[in-house]
Amino acid sequence: MPSTIKQQTTVSVKELFAVPEVLKALAYFDDNAEGITEEHIRISSVPASPFDERQRAEYLYRLFVERGLEEVTIDAEGNCLGLFSGESASPLLVVSAHLDTVFSNDTDFRVQRRGQRLFGPGISDDSSGLVALIAIIDALKIARLRTGGSILFVATVGEEGEGNLRGVRHLLTVGPWSSRVDAFLSFDGPGIDRITNRALGSRRYRIEVTGSGGHSWGDFGIPNPIHALGRAISRLAAYPIPKDARTTFNVGRIEGGTSVNAIPSFAALEVDLRSAAEAELRRLDAYFRRAAREAVDDENAQRRPGDQPLILKLELTGERPTGATAADSPLVELAIEATRAQGIEPKLDQSSTDSNLPISLGIPAITLGSGGNAAGSHTLDEWYEPEGRELGLKRGLLVILGVTGLSQKIE
Ligand SMILES: [Zn+2]
Repeated sequence: MPSTIKQQTTVSVKELFAVPEVLKALAYFDDNAEGITEEHIRISSVPASPFDERQRAEYLYRLFVERGLEEVTIDAEGNCLGLFSGESASPLLVVSAHLDTVFSNDTDFRVQRRGQRLFGPGISDDSSGLVALIAIIDALKIARLRTGGSILFVATVGEEGEGNLRGVRHLLTVGPWSSRVDAFLSFDGPGIDRITNRALGSRRYRIEVTGSGGHSWGDFGIPNPIHALGRAISRLAAYPIPKDARTTFNVGRIEGGTSVNAIPSFAALEVDLRSAAEAELRRLDAYFRRAAREAVDDENAQRRPGDQPLILKLELTGERPTGATAADSPLVELAIEATRAQGIEPKLDQSSTDSNLPISLGIPAITLGSGGNAAGSHTLDEWYEPEGRELGLKRGLLVILGVTGLSQKIE
């Protein structure tokens, strides 16, 4: 390919616009909007639930193979991977989107098209990201672009909720590619202005309290697991949240008990703690664990002689690190430039995405919207509108090529 671009870690958007093959690849998104939307509907119609993403992973596997990616595999954790080889093995950029949705495996994943809108569970979050990978691979192939570095396309498992980033964690900490990744980009949901460069950290706990239980009247005085949880919730609700770093807590589920006139023998709750600042998250985390212990101690302190004390089990069910890819890092600057090239003013953003994990490992990482509009994420009424999708795909492709550079070899 005739190109004057030197292979380097970052190539400017302006330089990319001077290359005819790049313009051809960008035009692909304008000329094939309908085909991209049809593939989007097919992807989103394949079921994918938490800890049950296999069908959708296999579908992506076939799409990767058909497009001639190399080393296509479904790894030990369930991620689907395919390599687009450049002139050199490095820099190696991971381009990802997540396979999982928040919906159980008895959900009807079929997509309905009504006018401009596509309706379906997960249609935006994150089928729109998955189809972005496919559209970008197609654009690279059709324009016969040869990159300097290489691109590992990955459809990840376990991004949502209790998945706890297990897919990207496996990919970057123990999987065969873990030591070779230089930068990370994920497409998650719609939009064109957002550049998520800061990772919103969270900790999630399940606490279980067990006791002997008894009759509400006859055994009154036996420690009550639900009362103990009530004491813990009351302490948490009184937590003095900091003014500057946004910090939140939520008791999202509670269970236990057998009847209105029985002292329960078991109760449990699940809590989600988040903060924009790691130090605040650690403070809230320590406060919550102490509140749970003290709540059970207080309930036990009132028991009658000879009564069994309550037993507390506290389990960390989710942990996402807080951190950031610096706003003035080459990757973020490139994304800012690529957004402005679409006539859009970028917004740097903090969120909880697959990028949390690479950020915690010191790998430059950002999450971008894949274009278009959407609403109702994590509900059965979720919808996506493809209009303007091409802007998100163009921005994404420019960022990718900016990181990998272009090959200087003439084909
Ligand atoms: Zn998502």
